[in-house]
Amino acid sequence: MTSPAKGRLIIVSGPSGAGKTTILREVMARAPRLTPSVSATTRPPRPGERDGEDYFFLSEAEFARRRQNGEFLECFEVFGRGYWYGTLHGQVAPRLAEGKWVVLEIDVDGTQAVLDMYPDAVTIFVQPESVLELERRLRQRGTESETAIARRLEVARHELSRQNLYRYIVRNDSVADAVERILQILVSLEKETHD
Ligand code: 5GP
Repeated sequence: MTSPAKGRLIIVSGPSGAGKTTILREVMARAPRLTPSVSATTRPPRPGERDGEDYFFLSEAEFARRRQNGEFLECFEVFGRGYWYGTLHGQVAPRLAEGKWVVLEIDVDGTQAVLDMYPDAVTIFVQPESVLELERRLRQRGTESETAIARRLEVARHELSRQNLYRYIVRNDSVADAVERILQILVSLEKETHD
């Protein structure tokens, strides 16, 4: 008798500016077995972002209501952002039960909370080349105030300081290499899942 396909939870984190979103978009396109979990947030949509695709954009009151209702697997006021973000149980549990591989793009606090509940979750941290490089790029753009640069770097350092929580560290020296590395990790997980 064949056993039912086993779902897996894959968590991807890393400071913004590390190229995480671009890398993940490419990985998703090449690994159709992956399903993204759409998070909820109180942050307003950026131009081009769509409700229900990029995020579920909720008012503070609606977010709080769902939180009280126990709809979140984890939710946090993400460090340095001033907005709430959270993973909905509905995006995860039913899909795992169907044998899908669900990808969460969440921060370090969220990762810790998910690991407490799903210790088998596979964790990947996308690292920028270096904080110095991040700083150089922010200054070169010349669009951000010193206060904004300092705040972004503080957030990046906070995240980098907790990367030992992750099973895999993927350095983003080039997007193409980082994508290949994550695809390799997925292949090794396939093998592990079948063992
Ligand atoms: P952005 O506002 O740029 O889309 O995302 C900001 C940060 O929020 C990113 O570091 C991202 O990983 C984190 N984030 C997005 N969704 C969630 C979520 O559902 N839970 C948690 N804990 N963090 C999230």
